[in-house]
Amino acid sequence: MRLALDEAERAARNGDVPVGAIVLAPDGSTVLASGHNEREAAHDPTAHAELLALRRAAAALGQWRLADCTLVVTLEPCTMCAGAIQQSRIDRLVYGARDEKAGAAGSLWDVVRDQRLNHRPEVVEGVLAEECARLLTAFFRDR
Ligand SMILES: [Zn+2]
Repeated sequence: MRLALDEAERAARNGDVPVGAIVLAPDGSTVLASGHNEREAAHDPTAHAELLALRRAAAALGQWRLADCTLVVTLEPCTMCAGAIQQSRIDRLVYGARDEKAGAAGSLWDVVRDQRLNHRPEVVEGVLAEECARLLTAFFRDR
């Protein structure tokens, strides 16, 4: 999560909402890929930290299926990213702050653990939650 927080800070430097993500390899410690929110920087509404990290991890592995990998992200994923998480078949999602306004992994929705879907990752929430939330609060306060 510390690495994801570093990524989040990179997003803020470009004027993007500070959200950062990393993907860990099946060994649980090797960083396969990282990403931060680049919506403003890339003029891309889909350039969320999670999506970028998942794409880069798949490219690094040479396969779309991210079985046994872990996605670590500073903010609870939105519906788009929850869909991508489900599609990637990633095994574990770890996130920091909850997103009560748009979260799709336990707050507004729980897309990633929807019983109707055939793949449901393990979800661990609240890791360094206060630090993750503080970064977001500071960003919006400064705007
Ligand atoms: Zn998202």
